[in-house]
Amino acid sequence: MVAATIPQATAKRLPIYYRYLNILADSGKKRVSSTELAEAVKVDSATIRRDFSYFGALGKRGYGYDVESLLEFFKKTLNQDKLTNVALIGVGNLGHALLNFNFHKSNNVRISAAFDINEEITGTIQSGVPIYPMSDMKEQLTVQQIEVVILTVPSSVAQKVTDELTEVGVKGILNFTPLRITVPETVRVQNVDLTNELQTLVYFLDHFGPGK
Ligand code: NAD
Repeated sequence: MVAATIPQATAKRLPIYYRYLNILADSGKKRVSSTELAEAVKVDSATIRRDFSYFGALGKRGYGYDVESLLEFFKKTLNQDKLTNVALIGVGNLGHALLNFNFHKSNNVRISAAFDINEEITGTIQSGVPIYPMSDMKEQLTVQQIEVVILTVPSSVAQKVTDELTEVGVKGILNFTPLRITVPETVRVQNVDLTNELQTLVYFLDHFGPGK
């Protein structure tokens, strides 16, 4: 409920905070100040205090934040207790790399099924993940209760595949293709564009230097 009302920018920082708080907890640290956190996660301390205030976590002056209770909160908010299976559609160059990576550092999300039309790879297992033909998609997504997919097909077929995904009830698509896919309101899309990120980095370096 809290998660539904916090700004998207704040929501995006949650996993960063969570990862660092885990490191602190592992090293036996009981509390942390927003200044310490700011230095570690490279987010300024005013932003951290504002972010934390959205979750009702108010640090005490001179004490900081209690690591354990923050971790408990993040665990619940980020659903870290629950394993989410996701599927990958299109096992080419990028798809292979993502399968190989398979979110090793995350204990709550993993790619459990992949799909492709290439008969040379369907029926095989790559990086521990079975590759199914597209004709098995509906059945596998249903059986494995998968609602989120990673889309790494050529852009020429991205909309067609998206329509197929929508039809079988997918709720979220992480779209790596350059095509801005069209989906009904029941589906949420998150676009990943490395070119864009690189250009943004170059722009910031050119205009502001590495400092800001
Ligand atoms: P690729 O050609 O190596 O792989 C595409 C795979 O999709 C192939 O295995 C192919 O058999 C499969 N495929 C084709 N049609 C399909 C269909 N109808 N249903 C299911 N699978 C199908 O391409 P790639 O280099 O891995 O790139 C994949 C996509 O990712 C492209 O759209 C590319 O532009 C994009 N890309 C994005 C980024 C980024 O930063 N977002 C970076 C690199 C590539």
